[in-house]
Amino acid sequence: MKRLALLLVILLFAPIAAPVSAQNVIEDELAEIAAEIEALEEAMNDAEGDVSYYQNLISSTTGRMNDIRGQLSAAESALADLNLAITETQAAISFTELEISQKEAELALTSANIAETHDMVVTQAVELFKRGGGQIQTAFDYASVQEAALAVKYGSSVLEDTNRALDVLEELRNQEEQQVDLIEEQKATLNDQLGRLATAQNQAETQRALVEENKKQIEAELVNLQAALQLIKNDIRAYELEVDGLEAEQEGLIELLEEQQSQGGVAPGELFRPLNPFRIVSSYGPRLHPILGYTRTHAGIDLDGDTGQEISAAASGRIIYAGVRGGYGNTVIIDHGGGMATLYAHQSRIAVSYNQEVRVGDVIGYVGSTGLSTGPHLHFEVRINGAHTNPAPYFS
Ligand SMILES: [Zn+2]
Repeated sequence: MKRLALLLVILLFAPIAAPVSAQNVIEDELAEIAAEIEALEEAMNDAEGDVSYYQNLISSTTGRMNDIRGQLSAAESALADLNLAITETQAAISFTELEISQKEAELALTSANIAETHDMVVTQAVELFKRGGGQIQTAFDYASVQEAALAVKYGSSVLEDTNRALDVLEELRNQEEQQVDLIEEQKATLNDQLGRLATAQNQAETQRALVEENKKQIEAELVNLQAALQLIKNDIRAYELEVDGLEAEQEGLIELLEEQQSQGGVAPGELFRPLNPFRIVSSYGPRLHPILGYTRTHAGIDLDGDTGQEISAAASGRIIYAGVRGGYGNTVIIDHGGGMATLYAHQSRIAVSYNQEVRVGDVIGYVGSTGLSTGPHLHFEVRINGAHTNPAPYFS
């Protein structure tokens, strides 16, 4: 009987709020685990998608790079062929010029011979005329008339020979002139060819310049891809750093909320955006490390912001924490009633104080990078009865 009385006393004096249904707690935990698994699968798909996206991009860009390298070597060999052809044509022109000068020298010699032979013919003709034809100047020159007649005859046969030699020389000169003309024609043809080759060389050089420009563009694209990959790696590192710091705070945070939160009131179903513009750069939930395979849970969302940018209260309520909090840095927690609280981490400066009442939209602090954070942003959490939940659905 005594024991029954004691039990009754215990039951009567037990706090009314305490017996939260154990079944409810288990159901909540199960729902949370299911949500985490779903988010994990999503994160795995995202990571696989990212990996294949970059693999495809890199392989297609590398393929284009190889094409361009092929085009470049083709352009360079075409140019080398043209340069060789130009060198050969220039050598052929030099050779024809040499030939021309040789033939012109021969022609000059032949012309000199002709002139000399011609002079000789004239001199002999004059001599012959003097001795035989018109006037025989003196009888003393020849012993007899027969002798004089012989001399005239001899002289005229020499004149005939010399005239024949002159004809041969004239023929030679004609041939040499024709040869010079022919070589001049060849030279003109070669010069035409050189002109065409020079045009082709210009075109080939333009083509090579185009291909090289293309190559530079693709090289720049590859650099950009590497930079994008580096940014993703940096994001992962920053995310890990922050989550490490936040995970260490979880237990203490839950205790604080249990102590400070009021159970009365109704939790708001919708929240005011704490930053404007509102841009989520890291979402809520567990994530699989793409390389190492382990998971980390991000208890809130990260919003992009500049240092000193105003942070607004997401709903009306009472400040239940305003101060430094480990990896969270300068932190504000607002209790909104109905078991709901919002948290604002990494602030450069806090604008409210403990126990202060705030209205929705009031400035509660300024964006910063205090605590474990790699750059200015707002880490924002929604807590329901101490447990973190995805804040994103609260923003319409
Ligand atoms: Zn965060």
